[in-house]
Parts: sequence; structure tokens; C-alpha cells
Amino acid sequence: MSRHDPAAEAVVDLDAYAHNLSVLGEAARGARMMAVLKADAYGHGLVECARTARANSVSWLGVTTIAEALELREVADEGRILCWLYPPGADFASAVEHDIDLAASSAAQLGEIVAAAAGRRARVHLKVDTGMSRNGALGADWSHLVTAAATAQRKGAIEVVGVWSHLACADEPTHPSVAAQEQVFREAVVELASAGIEPELRHLANSAATLTRPSAHFDLVRVGIASYGLTPAPNVASSSEYGLRPAMTLRARLAHVKRVPAGSGVSYGHTHVTSADTTLGLVPVGYGDGVLRALSNRASVWCAGDRRPIVGRVCMDQFMIDLGDTEIEVGEPVTLFGAGAEGDPTAQDWADAADTISYEVVTRIGGRIERRHL
Ligand code: PLP
Repeated sequence: MSRHDPAAEAVVDLDAYAHNLSVLGEAARGARMMAVLKADAYGHGLVECARTARANSVSWLGVTTIAEALELREVADEGRILCWLYPPGADFASAVEHDIDLAASSAAQLGEIVAAAAGRRARVHLKVDTGMSRNGALGADWSHLVTAAATAQRKGAIEVVGVWSHLACADEPTHPSVAAQEQVFREAVVELASAGIEPELRHLANSAATLTRPSAHFDLVRVGIASYGLTPAPNVASSSEYGLRPAMTLRARLAHVKRVPAGSGVSYGHTHVTSADTTLGLVPVGYGDGVLRALSNRASVWCAGDRRPIVGRVCMDQFMIDLGDTEIEVGEPVTLFGAGAEGDPTAQDWADAADTISYEVVTRIGGRIERRHL
């Protein structure tokens, strides 16, 4: 596998990432694109994905924390970056100094940004809560934010670059909240315009809305999960139906193989008992590496040309698979999840089995797993 011969590795296909960006670019129909790279690019590698996005003409990168944005500046990314989530007292001074665009969700937060900018002109994107009840200003608080932003912009303290919001149910395109949020967003834009602010960028759409709802595209779309090749709306269409290619493959090699008799209890709690003599293989990664414990007895991996069930509980560093009567030796490669091209399970398959979303499957892959970029 690599010089260090790790127990497991996450292989990230940057060509697939670039391909997905181009699929999404087409779907965006002229709107600009922001590659969302928070949480280490959903586990795919912040810096490598940023470089690939820039090389493929993506003008905006989106991250959550100021630390993530500064990491991109440290590796000489000079393009536009939006950063959107921070506690009071965050390092706004460094963000402004490094030309990072900042989201403001309240008049108080805007005031903090202006104070920290110490005379520099901060670039801000005003966030309105259109119905997710998460971040962003709601109702009268939105009006206060608009007034504060108009005053600060008149004084030259800020440039309002964007107005934006986030959809709660874009993965269910017919959910009435999607149209309702879009309508509230349009009204917020009008309110802003009446205060004399007409930002260059209105942005609302995530991956799902980029692929399913052109009316929500506005000037820029923010794409995360679909850029990594995973369907943003599993109940609507699969990755391949959207023309996406999963970028991450998680691989390991069997660390131990053994024949056990019928009636053997496997792993903690003996939640699986073998029904016949069989061969078990030990995969040396576990929930400490992000392999969800909820996958115990519920998912499979790809090994020696077939899907093999995970049997017994996933442990912190390892889990067992049932190989039946197949003759397999220690060191045999295992694809835990991948692009699905050979019959291997995908991150979406694992998400379904664990009753979660693919975002969690790829983002959880931990620091002990080496990343290798192709
Ligand atoms: N915009 C914001 C504010 C987000 O938090 C996210 C991710 O959750 C995205 C865009 C990208 O969403 P998705 O990964 O569904 O494309």
C-alpha cells in the first residue's frame, strides 16, 4: 500500500473530484460555484481538494472555521474563501487581514467583525435564517442586521459581498419548506436592496438544490457532498444517476484469518454466532477510525471478489467479516467502501446500513487512516 504499510488507507481520486465539480458546474447553469471544504473536505483532504478545485476554475472555497480558512492561506491559496461559523471572540482580525470573507448572522457579530478589522474593510456575507432555525438572522434581527450593515457599508467599514441562507430539506425537493425558504430569501434580498445594499452574490443552494432546483441557484451555488461523488438526495437519485463518481475508497488488508466451528460467538457481546464452520477475517480498523459501530452485523465489505458481511460488533480498532469457505490468506485486500464499480459497497450503502447519511460515513474517517491522493 504505502511505504509505511498502514493498516488502512483512504484513497481519494482527485480526477473523480474534478469530474464531479464539472458535473455540478454544468448543473449550476451559469451560477458561480463554491467548493465546500469544511471538515477536511468531508474527510477527503482540505489542501488537495482546494488545489483541485482551483485548478478546475472554482472561484470560491467555503469552510466553517477561521482556522480552516487560514490553513488554506498558509498553503498559498489566494482566491476567495468564505468562512461561516465561529463563537464570539473568534480571530476575526486574522481573517480580515488574510482577505477571508466572513459570514455575519447578527448585528452583534457584524459589530465584532468591524471592531476586529481595525480600520480594514471587512468583506461580509449577511446570513438570513429563511427557515432552518439554525444560523442566520430571523425576523426583526434580520432587519437590525440589515440596518447595521447599511451603516457600516456607508462608513466604508465593510463591503457586503453576499446575502445568503441554507436550505433545511433540499434533499427532499418536493418538501414545501424548500419553496417557502426560497420565497423568504427573495424577500430578504428585497429588504436589503431597500436599505441600499445590492450584494454581488446571493447564494442559497447546496448540492441537492444545485442538482434539483435551478430557481434556487441565484448567483452562486455551494457544493459539498455531490462534489465528493455522493448523492445529495438518495431518495431521488443515486450518484451514478447524477453522473457523479465517489471520490473516496477506504481500503485495508486482512490482519488475521481463522477457521472457526459452528456455534462460535463473534466479538463483544456475541451478537453474532456462526451457523456453520466458517472462515473469519479480521479487518484492522474500527470505530476509533470512523467505522461506525452501528454497522455491526448490518453492512458488508468487498474482499476476494465478493461482498462479505461484517459479523459481530465493530470494535475500536477492528472488526470481523465472514468469508465462508473461501480460501483467503492474511494480507488479502479489503475495500470497505468505494466507488461501487466492482460491486464494492459505497459510502451510501454504509450510510443506509447504519441509518445515517453518507456525509457522516466519509467525514468520520479518522486521523489514523492515511489519505492517499490519486
Ligand atoms: N452551505 C452550508 C452553509 C453548509 O453547511 C453546507 C454543508 O452542510 C453546504 C453548503 C454544502 O452542503 P452539501 O454538502 O449538501 O452540498
